[in-house]
Amino acid sequence: METLKLYVAGEWRQGRGERFCSTYPADGTVNAWLHAASLDDVELAVSAAERAWREPEWRNMLPHQRAAILHRVGDLISARLEPLAQRQTRDNGKPLAESRGLVASAAATAHYFAAVCEVMEGELPPQRSPDFITLSGYEPIGVVAAITPWNSPIASEMQKVAPALAAGNAVVLKPAEATPLMALELAALFEEAGLPPGLFSVLPGKGSIVGEALARHPLVKKISFTGGTRTGRMLAHVAADKLISTSLELGGKSPTIVLDDADPEQAARGICYGIFSSAGQACIAGSRLFVHRRLYQPLLDRLLTLTQELRIGDPLQPGIHIGPLINAAHYQSVAGYVALAREEGGEILCGGEAPADPTLAQGSWFLPTIITGLNNRARVCQEEIFGPVLVVMPFDDEAELIAQANDSLYGLAAGIWTRDITRALRLAEKLETGTVWINTYKVFSISTPFGGVKESGLGREKGLQGIKAWMQQKSIYLATTPAVNGWSD
Ligand code: ADP
Repeated sequence: METLKLYVAGEWRQGRGERFCSTYPADGTVNAWLHAASLDDVELAVSAAERAWREPEWRNMLPHQRAAILHRVGDLISARLEPLAQRQTRDNGKPLAESRGLVASAAATAHYFAAVCEVMEGELPPQRSPDFITLSGYEPIGVVAAITPWNSPIASEMQKVAPALAAGNAVVLKPAEATPLMALELAALFEEAGLPPGLFSVLPGKGSIVGEALARHPLVKKISFTGGTRTGRMLAHVAADKLISTSLELGGKSPTIVLDDADPEQAARGICYGIFSSAGQACIAGSRLFVHRRLYQPLLDRLLTLTQELRIGDPLQPGIHIGPLINAAHYQSVAGYVALAREEGGEILCGGEAPADPTLAQGSWFLPTIITGLNNRARVCQEEIFGPVLVVMPFDDEAELIAQANDSLYGLAAGIWTRDITRALRLAEKLETGTVWINTYKVFSISTPFGGVKESGLGREKGLQGIKAWMQQKSIYLATTPAVNGWSD
C-alpha cells in the first residue's frame, strides 16, 4: 500500500498531522495513506515560500523563463494524461472521460498562463505634466494560498497554481481532504519541470486545521478559494482582518431556461449533461430548469427518457455517465434534500434514491433525479444540493421567468435554449450571473474569465486578466525635467 509524502518547502517529507487516506468512492478501497500536514508543516511551507519568492533565482527569472517551466509542466501532463486521469477518478469517482477532460484542461491552463506571462505588458499612462512621465507595472504579491475543493481537483488546482507562479509568486496549495492525490502529482510535475524549491508546497489535511492556519498566516498575502459559500465567507473575513486580497469561487444554483422556440432535442441533451455530469457535483450544475409551458411536457418526457438511459456504474469503466457521490455523508445530504422536496409537495419523477444494482452497494451512488410540482421558493430550489437533482418548473411569460431565475442568493451561471439569438442576448443581459451559456452548457475556455456574482463569489479566474489577480500594480513617476519640486501657492 502506497504511503505518500507531502511536498513541503521543496522536499518530500511525511506530514506531521493525523493519518488519513484517499479512497476510491466507487468501492471504498484505499488508494493511498498519508499523514496530513501539521501546523508546523504550514509554518515550514510558508516560511520557505517567503524565502523562495525573494530569492534572486526566482525574482530575477524573466517571464519567458517562468513560462518555460509552465510549458514543461503542460507537456508532462499531456504525456501522462491517461495515468493522471485514472488517478483522479480513483481519488474522487468522476467518470474517466470527465477526468481525461480535466487533465487535458490542466495542461492547457499551464500553457495558456505561460503564454500570458510572456506577453503581458505594463502601462505607460498618458502624460499629465511636462515635468514627469509615469510607468505602471505589475509585480508578484509574494506568498499566496490556494484552497481547493474535491470535485475537479487537477483543473481547479492548476487554475490557481499556474497563474500564481506565472505571476512570480510562491504558492502553498491546500487540496480538499478527500482528494489529496492530484495536488501531490502537480508538485511532482513542477519539481520535474525545474521549479526552484520552496515556491510550491502542497499541504493536504482538514480545512478547519490546515486551511485555516494557512489562510491566517501573517506571511500569506492572498487567499484564492474555491468551495462552499460558508467557508468562502469565513475566509473573506480572515482576508479582511489581514487587509489582503481574496478571490472566491463559491456555490451556485444555476437556472437553465428553455424558450418556446428552442430545439427540444438539443436542449434536453444539454440540460441532462448540465445537471447530471459529475453526478451533479459541480458548482455550475444547472439545477433549476424553467421551461416555457408550450414545450414543458414534451421536453420533460424527453428529459426523462434520456435520464433513464444514463449508464450508472464504475467510473473507471468506459461509457459510464454517472459515478458515485464523493462519500456516504454527501449521499445523506443529497437524499435529505430529496426527502425535503417530497415534504414540500414535489413529485419525484425518477431517481430519488440509490440504484438497486447490488454491484454498486459499496459506494454512494444516487440515481439522477427529476422533480416537478415545486416553485422556485422551495428550499430545494434555493439551496445548493451538489448532487444529481433537477427541479423542473413551467413558465408563461418572460418577465416572470427573469424574476424567478434571479430569485436566488447565488449567481454563478445560467443556460438559455432558443433559436432566437437576439432574445437570448436580451435575456443574458438580464440574468444576474457571471456566465451565461446559450444553446450549450458547462463548456469552458481557459481564455474566458469565470466567476460569480452575489453569493457565488468574488473576482474572476482565467482569461488574460486572470494573471493580474495574482499581481499588484506599482506606479513609478520619473522626472523628465530638472524642475525642483515647489510648494504651490
Ligand atoms: P465543499 O462544500 O466543496 O466541501 P468546503 O468549503 O468545505 O467546500 O471545502 C473547500 C476547501 O476549503 C477544502 O480544501 C476544505 O478543506 C477547505 N476548508 C474547509 N473549511 C475551511 C476553513 N475553515 N479554513 C480554510 N479552509 C477550509
